[in-house]
Amino acid sequence: MIRVLDARFLKTAVEPDGYPQPDRPEIAFVGRSNVGKSSMINALAGRNKLVRVSNTPGRTRTLNFFDVDLDVDGSRVLPRLVDLPGYGFAKAPKTEKKEWERMISRYLESRSVLKVVVAIVDAEVGPTPEDLSTLGYLVDSVPRVLLVATKIDRLPKAKRKPRIQELARITRLPEAAVVPFSATLKLGVDEVWESLTPQLSMNPGG
Ligand code: GDP
Repeated sequence: MIRVLDARFLKTAVEPDGYPQPDRPEIAFVGRSNVGKSSMINALAGRNKLVRVSNTPGRTRTLNFFDVDLDVDGSRVLPRLVDLPGYGFAKAPKTEKKEWERMISRYLESRSVLKVVVAIVDAEVGPTPEDLSTLGYLVDSVPRVLLVATKIDRLPKAKRKPRIQELARITRLPEAAVVPFSATLKLGVDEVWESLTPQLSMNPGG
């Protein structure tokens, strides 16, 4: 059983200089704006406002780090969640998009304690072209990718499993690497943690 003991905002950063000490295994969350990323992190952390607190709208977009202390079957597991700024603002100027790409790729490609990236898509909408290109990049660049299909509550129950299978097929990920989720119904919280926690070993090669 997985239980959240504590969850707290740690810090905000843009440049590697500002990242926290690499003393916890990290799980990064990426998705287009409005996909439900903040709601997902809050649901996983068992907190209503963990993310919004640090995510003042209109401020320069940053990487936000959160520490979560878990009890997993009686053992402490101490991941750090990294909220990457959402992509896909159609109106964002080109220079801002470049800035976003640089900030994110620098983190993803150089962070030694990054264990797994949670890529989020909207279960109802399906993957957008930008989701697919981001996924293609992630699969080539980071140790592991877990695809989470959120807002699954918007699909009738009979359509959920076929949608997950379709997502696995489109993205060429194994079906076990695609997890249905709903922050609204708190569906998939245990399943996402169960997929993530075995990947958090700090031992090299672990
Ligand atoms: P972010 O921009 O990716 O961080 O997205 P937010 O978490 O702020 O959510 C964007 C919108 O989607 C908000 O109106 C949320 O209430 C809604 N939302 C988020 N998660 C879910 C979900 O699981 N189900 C439904 N139906 N709506 C959701």
